Amino acid sequence: MGKIKKLLVANRGEIALRVMRSAKEMGIKTVAVFSEADRAALHVQFADEAVCIGPPPSSQSYLVMDKIIGAAKETSADAIHPGYGFLSENEDFAKKVKEAGLIFIGPSAESMEIMGSKLGAKAAVSKFNVPLVPGTAEPISDVNAAKKVAKEIGYPILIKASAGGGGKGMRIVEKESEFQEQMERAVSEAISAFGDGAVFIEKYVSQPRHIEFQIFGDQHGNVVHLFERECSIQRRHQKVVEEAPSSVLTPELRKKMGEAAVNAAKAANYYNAGTIEFILDEKLNFYFLEMNTRLQVEHPVTEQITGLDLVKLQIQIAEGAKLPFKQEDLKINGHAIEVRVYAEDPANNFLPDIGVLKTYKRPQGHGIRVDDGFEQGMAIPFYYDPMIAKMICHDETRERAIEKTIRAIDEYEITGVETTLGFCNFVMHHEAFRSGNFSTKFVESYFKPEYLKGQSTPEEEMIAGALAAELILSVPQVQQAVSTQSSESKWKKNRLA
Ligand code: ADP
Repeated sequence: MGKIKKLLVANRGEIALRVMRSAKEMGIKTVAVFSEADRAALHVQFADEAVCIGPPPSSQSYLVMDKIIGAAKETSADAIHPGYGFLSENEDFAKKVKEAGLIFIGPSAESMEIMGSKLGAKAAVSKFNVPLVPGTAEPISDVNAAKKVAKEIGYPILIKASAGGGGKGMRIVEKESEFQEQMERAVSEAISAFGDGAVFIEKYVSQPRHIEFQIFGDQHGNVVHLFERECSIQRRHQKVVEEAPSSVLTPELRKKMGEAAVNAAKAANYYNAGTIEFILDEKLNFYFLEMNTRLQVEHPVTEQITGLDLVKLQIQIAEGAKLPFKQEDLKINGHAIEVRVYAEDPANNFLPDIGVLKTYKRPQGHGIRVDDGFEQGMAIPFYYDPMIAKMICHDETRERAIEKTIRAIDEYEITGVETTLGFCNFVMHHEAFRSGNFSTKFVESYFKPEYLKGQSTPEEEMIAGALAAELILSVPQVQQAVSTQSSESKWKKNRLA
C-alpha cells in the first residue's frame, strides 16, 4: 500500500478544505475537483491543483465517478477522499477507485454494501449481540401480513424503507385503521426516492434520543470507539446541534454502548472511520439504527474531546498503518458543542434562503473552531447543500461550552441570508437543552418561530443602531458631546447596514 503522495478530494465546501488542511500538514499534495458553479470556491484556491469536472448540477459533476477518477489519473493522484455526501457511501465508487489502482480513503466496498441497506445491516449486527429495535427482519410487501406483525409489535410503529436515507420513506402509524394508507405511501415514496420499494416495520420509540458512536478500525482487525455524540436536536430528521459527550450517558452505559458499536463494526469487517447510530429510549435502553460508512459532518466534536485529527487517522489507516492507540488509551477531555450554520430561514419552516453573504464575520477566541467554505461577498450556490459553516466550541464543562457557544453566536455576523444561528441561540438558552432533558422531539415540542422575533439579527441591530444614531445626532447637545474618536468604529459598523 505505501505512503500517499497526492490526494484528490472528491467533494466541495468546508469538508474539502478540512480534508486538504490535514493532508497538507502531512506533506501530501492536494487536488480539488470543482463544478462550473464552484470556480472561485475556497477549496479550489486552497488545493495545489484543481480540475473542473462539469456543469453545476451534482449529477453532472460531483456525482460522476468516471470524471472524478479521470481527474485523479490526469493529475497522478494516488488516493481519493470522498468527504461526506455525494459518492462517499457508494460502494461502486469505492470499487472503481480500487480497480483504477488508487487508494480509497474509507472502508472496503464489501463493508459499505453490508451497511448500505438498513435491513442488511440489522441482519449482520444481530449476530454480534447488538440490540435492535423490535421489528421485522425481512422486507414485507403483503399489507395483511404486515398488519399482523404491527399488532404483535404494538402501536405506534414506524414503516421504513430498507434503502432509506435522509428521513425519506419513513411513516409513523399510530393505529391499525391508518396502517394500509401509510404503508402504501411509504412504498411509493421509497420507489420514487430509491428505486426500491422494500419496506419493513419497527417499533416507534417515543421521545428517543439520537446517540451515535464514532468508531475506527484498521486493516489488521483492530477496532475502537472514540465515544459518543448526542445529535437529538434535529429538524426534518436532520441534525442541527451536536455535542460530545452526551449528558445522559453514565460511564457504565457508555462502555456498554461502545462495546456494542465496536461489535457492530466487526460484523462488517469494518476498517477506517464509521459511525454507529443508536436511539435511546426514556428508560435508557439503546437500539441500533444504522451505520454511516464515512466521516460525519459532526466529527469535529469528537476531535475536540479526544484531541485527535480524524482525517489524518483516516489517511494513515488507508496507507495500511495500525491504529496508534488502544481503547484504554482514549479519554474524554471536556465538552464540545457544534452548531450548524445553514442558509435557512427557521421562521419559514427551515426552508433554504440562499443568496450573497453581504457581511460574513467569524467569531474568534479560546476554544472556538469554525469550519466553513465561504468568505464575505461570496454567493451560496443554489445547487448544493445550503450549509455555510459549522461552529464548534470546546470547554471544560458542558455549562461552559454552552456559554461559549452563546458568546460566539453573538459575535458571528452574517447578513444577506437568513441562517440557523438564531435558532441555535434559542436552543442554547432553552431550559430543556440546558438541563439535558430533551429528545428528537425538541423542535416539535418547544420551538415557535415567534421566539426568534425577540432576538434581533446583527443586521437588524445595525439598522436599529443607525436609526438611533441619526435621532440622537439630530439633537444639538448630543452632536457636541459625541467624541469623534469613540464613535468612529461604531458608525462604520452602522454604515454596513
Ligand atoms: P435516515 O437514514 O433516513 O436518516 P434513520 O434510521 O437514521 O433514517 O433515522 C433518522 C431519525 O429518525 C433518527 O435520528 C430518529 O430521530 C428517527 N427514528 C428512526 N427510527 C426510529 C424509531 N424506531 N423510533 C423513533 N424514532 C426513530
